[in-house]
Amino acid sequence: MKKYILALDEGTTSARSILFDKEMNIVSMTQQEFPQIYPRPGWVEQDPMRIYATQYASLTECIAKSGVSPDEIAGIGITNQRETVIVWDKNTGKPVYNAIVWQCRRTSELCEKLKSDGYSDFIAETTGLRPDAYFSATKIKWILDNVPGAAAKAEKGELLFGTVDTWLLWKLTEGKVHITDRTNASRTMLYNIKELRWDERLCKMLGIPMSMLPEVRSSSEIYGSMNLMGSCVPICGIAGDQQAALFGQGCVNSGDMKITYGTGCFLLSNTGNTPVYSNHGLVTTIAATACGEKVEYALEGSVFTGGAVIQWLRDEMGLIQESSDSEYFAAKLSDNGGVYIVPAFSGLGAPYWDMHCRGVITGLTRGTGRNYIIRAALESVAFRSNDVIDAIRADSMSRINSIKVDGGASMNNFLMQFQSDISDLRVIRPGQNEATAAGAAYLAGLSSGFFDKNELFKEQSACTVFEPSIDQEKRNSLLCGWKNAVRSCMGGNYE
Ligand code: ADP
Repeated sequence: MKKYILALDEGTTSARSILFDKEMNIVSMTQQEFPQIYPRPGWVEQDPMRIYATQYASLTECIAKSGVSPDEIAGIGITNQRETVIVWDKNTGKPVYNAIVWQCRRTSELCEKLKSDGYSDFIAETTGLRPDAYFSATKIKWILDNVPGAAAKAEKGELLFGTVDTWLLWKLTEGKVHITDRTNASRTMLYNIKELRWDERLCKMLGIPMSMLPEVRSSSEIYGSMNLMGSCVPICGIAGDQQAALFGQGCVNSGDMKITYGTGCFLLSNTGNTPVYSNHGLVTTIAATACGEKVEYALEGSVFTGGAVIQWLRDEMGLIQESSDSEYFAAKLSDNGGVYIVPAFSGLGAPYWDMHCRGVITGLTRGTGRNYIIRAALESVAFRSNDVIDAIRADSMSRINSIKVDGGASMNNFLMQFQSDISDLRVIRPGQNEATAAGAAYLAGLSSGFFDKNELFKEQSACTVFEPSIDQEKRNSLLCGWKNAVRSCMGGNYE
């Protein structure tokens, strides 16, 4: 009798494993961190063997802690940090270089060249993305160009590429399965999101042999199985972390939208079976779908500095001791007193895309005290998210009435209420704050027959709902203050 489903959540800084029962109660949860490697300013790497070892250790600890027998586990779902690149030798299983992490900026120049050579439109039409070092393609090229002998070996078909899902799947199946899912493929900048195949022209252009690339499958099917303490357990769900969160939040219909408030903020809006291309600096990506369903798409926008601005208040400014203290201090004031922070610590992403501007504080007066700075920092997370919500509204030309939220900073009630006020929409925070792992568990549970599609999103856990509580005049005045602050930040580049 299968009673449980296991989610492996391999994030940027830690590997987690969560065992859920049929009612999606958490039966056991473990988390282990792994080290980040910063070889030069702007470069970010991880050791692929450590990624696997940490995930495996977290998995076995999770099972051991639960007292559950592996025979009782219906299946395993994987969700992962996206875009990160691992290249390994097919015969020895050894990585030829460290994992190049999504944050790594080493291929920025190459991406600038792709833009100046006029490839932006082709890349956008084919992959839904914009040429940026963030995505996998140029990182694979970098490894082939810079690791001695790698290009020749790749030409001979001896090297394999994978994002972290693929690497884990390959390791967990003892080298039998080289597969990724569409959500991860859609973040590589090599995948044609309409025709659902790797794009030959892009691979040629970047000198990436197609023999390196994993087979692309849906997000909910059986890919293989692993030997878990003597039991054979199917691995049967994969999705990149943001798409897993979208699915985990039950955003499975066109127009459904979620924001994950972590270090950065990630907004995804389900756009149904046809890809919507953005005129407002968003990217188009593939959403995770239930087993057997047609491909669905999402518009995605990210805010680089989200909860990180609260960390900055805590660690650099010393204004608070814990991130959660920000709620208490911000709520002491009746308004922001005209103080705005634009947290452009590493430039501004969607919809502005100015990588060179830096943060500003505007509206300081002699009376501006600590609480105003704290409040402005929290409000800035909501204002930046609202910029992206507006872009999604404009691109999808739809009315958005509500939004689901998750991630660490979504626990802040002041921030959630302000988001609802400024964006004029209902903000829904589920009782359970594990949307990403839940998404992977749902995908695995659907393909293994553990969950029934018709039952899945019917019951929502107890939610907290935030309703807009300010009038349009007040909203306009706040948005006007924010736009002026962005103008100060971007100078002449603000349109
Ligand atoms: P990540 O997955 O990116 O590491 P998490 O979802 O764990 O992020 O969220 C951590 C971020 O959220 C941190 O930047 C932290 O400052 C912020 N954060 C956590 N709790 C709160 C809170 N109650 N109020 C405001 N920010 C918070």
